[in-house]
Amino acid sequence: MTGHKAIIGLGGNIGDVLDSFRFGLDCLHADPATRVTRASPLYRTPAWGLEEQPDFLNACAELETWLSPHELLSLLQSVEDMRGRKRCEMWGPRTLDLDLLIYGEQQIDTNNLTVPHPLITERAFVLKPLAYLTPGMILGAKTAKHHLQVLSSEEQKMKLVSDDTWWMVS
Ligand code: AMP
Repeated sequence: MTGHKAIIGLGGNIGDVLDSFRFGLDCLHADPATRVTRASPLYRTPAWGLEEQPDFLNACAELETWLSPHELLSLLQSVEDMRGRKRCEMWGPRTLDLDLLIYGEQQIDTNNLTVPHPLITERAFVLKPLAYLTPGMILGAKTAKHHLQVLSSEEQKMKLVSDDTWWMVS
């Protein structure tokens, strides 16, 4: 039986972030009910919100999962915690941030989980790697690629760090 297709966003700007990203995807792939099917390229992005902090690395990954959306959120948070994530400042520096962006076609709005993630269409650092994985995905009646064109000035500040081979099933 096939699972649900989900897309997550990865971000971080403290420590060896590429190592944290690989650690994060390895943990998700090791979960018996989830496998990582693809990763996007990796981008370096100026910090958004609180600007006096190091640049972020950002990427997205596609999962196949048999977990429910809330179970997947718990898994993402436990992986963040394993990497020493402290939730203290809203836009502040972080070792590893894992957001659930898309879960199949589902729309979820609960106290602790909103899907599709509300920031997808507003931030190039989310949209660019997402549009790489699913350029034709419809978000609010327009494709991911179209939304990205609207954010082109923000997109131009993003630097490609690696193609999509930075993560491989180990
Ligand atoms: P963040 O600082 O981005 O890691 O935000 C974490 C908080 O956002 C947690 O309290 C989550 O319950 C909440 N949240 C709501 N929707 C989502 C989502 N789609 N993905 C990840 N966290 C979410």
